[in-house]
Amino acid sequence: MQYTEVMVRYGELSTKGKNRKDFIGRLAGNVEKVLADLENVKIYPKHDRMHIVLNGASLEEVDRRLKKVFGIQTYSPVIRTEKTLEAIKKTALEIMQAVYKSGMTFKVNTKRADHRFEYDTNQLNLMVGDYLFDNLPNPKVEMKHPDVVLRLEVRQDAVYISNQLLHGPGGMPVGTAGKAVMMLSGGIDSPVASYLALKRGVDIEMVHFFSPPYTSDKALAKAKELTGILANYCGKITFIAVPFAEIQETIKEKLPEGYLMTIQRRFMLRLADMIREKRKGLAIFNGESVGQVASQTLESMAAINNVTTTPVIRPVATMDKTEIIRLAEEIGTFDLSVMPFEDCCTIFAPPRPKTKPKIEKAIEYEKRLDVEGLLQRAMEGIEISTIKPNEKFIDDQTADQDLL
Ligand code: ATP
Ligand code: MG
Repeated sequence: MQYTEVMVRYGELSTKGKNRKDFIGRLAGNVEKVLADLENVKIYPKHDRMHIVLNGASLEEVDRRLKKVFGIQTYSPVIRTEKTLEAIKKTALEIMQAVYKSGMTFKVNTKRADHRFEYDTNQLNLMVGDYLFDNLPNPKVEMKHPDVVLRLEVRQDAVYISNQLLHGPGGMPVGTAGKAVMMLSGGIDSPVASYLALKRGVDIEMVHFFSPPYTSDKALAKAKELTGILANYCGKITFIAVPFAEIQETIKEKLPEGYLMTIQRRFMLRLADMIREKRKGLAIFNGESVGQVASQTLESMAAINNVTTTPVIRPVATMDKTEIIRLAEEIGTFDLSVMPFEDCCTIFAPPRPKTKPKIEKAIEYEKRLDVEGLLQRAMEGIEISTIKPNEKFIDDQTADQDLL
């Protein structure tokens, strides 16, 4: 028995009209991207279902990749069958013979999109069910929780038959929600926030602040490698590295310790916003979580956020650390995130940052700095690259040494 194709059902079906078209178009493009190297595979995006014709390609491989394409609600490997009772019975039996073991329970579940088809769903359930009952060894029918549900979908062009209903990741196709910048550190939270942004259909570009010579190449490599893991959900991701050492040095030299954190963060947000504008993004995402650390109290967020009116979206704002960690493990970023390469924030972190900084004070202190010059020089130093799924940046041996 060989499945001929994978039939994909779309997520968030409330989407209509032009939005629906955009949804399907994006999804098809994203599926095409993740399956591009499987040469024989053909993709047919239709109004209600997407059909991915395998032409001999490995179902396991296609399955593994579809699990990471947002916008897919469920999907089934199917055999496309001619719309005659004979052909339907034959395929149904073929599938059941491959998966059905003596004594298992089963039921037939028919859906009909073509209402002019000569048999209705009840008739098909009965006729195909009876036929299987007569031809399988020791069969048992069970309506509530059968071992095998044989699904028939009668569509306009053919009948699609399957014994599997697989779950996609849900969400919206990446790109349908527009573009934004994501502030990505090397920590646990921002990769999870990135995943959640992608899941809502936001096409993100990473902005990462690094501080050579205070931070090592490995801290930068780690952020890039995290980006590589996230690129599995969208094909590729633009990575923008912003030099931050001069700003940190200057702030440390000229301002009181209690405000180092707040002012550094205000600079980060200003730069993220400048990059967003250049890249034509609509919003800024970050990995802040309310109350997690001193810079993430509501007072701190207010004092930091004060530098821009651009929407700053915080997908993990209300999640517990344990929930964030669970997601990080699920998406495969956790092990990398906990590798101990210091990033730019840890290095210049004051021992006692203010948990309730005042906006007015932050503004007052910044008058001691050449804010525009600092921003401009940082912008001149940015480095832009494109990162592919699972691209590697940390070489294993040096990583091991560092961990000793
Ligand atoms: P994370 O686990 O994402 O590092 P965190 O709990 O360690 O988060 P902070 O280090 O205080 O929190 O940073 C809060 C948020 O600020 C991060 O989630 C990220 O969005 C942004 N941020 C911090 N450091 C950097 C950096 N070096 N480059 C880009 N963004 C950063
Ligand atoms: Mg951090």
